[in-house]
Amino acid sequence: MGVASNLKTDCACPACGHEDVYFIQYKFGGCWEDVYSLGDKISWERGIPHGDPGHALVRVNGISVVPRKCSSCGIEDIIFDIWIRNDVIEKAVITTWGKNLDYSHEFEIIEQSDNS
Ligand SMILES: [Zn+2]
Repeated sequence: MGVASNLKTDCACPACGHEDVYFIQYKFGGCWEDVYSLGDKISWERGIPHGDPGHALVRVNGISVVPRKCSSCGIEDIIFDIWIRNDVIEKAVITTWGKNLDYSHEFEIIEQSDNS
């Protein structure tokens, strides 16, 4: 899928509740395989840009790359919505699993910035 960014966060499996650390791959901001945490401001300074900076709220598609499946119950292809507010990663929410992520919809601008 080319160069992406990564979010590292603790999360509970949506099927069995098993807690794990997830590396979630997504494409928004300057993508250069950087690893971010919740609360980090994303960089636009390097890598391959996806989208543009300064939006009030953006929903970004992400997929867990490590682990690829829950080590407890085995569900695979865990897909997240990553919420980025004013270029800061606010939260990551599991939306579904067992499906291929459609990267033709990498992100969706929910709320424009006031000055755009
Ligand atoms: Zn599980």
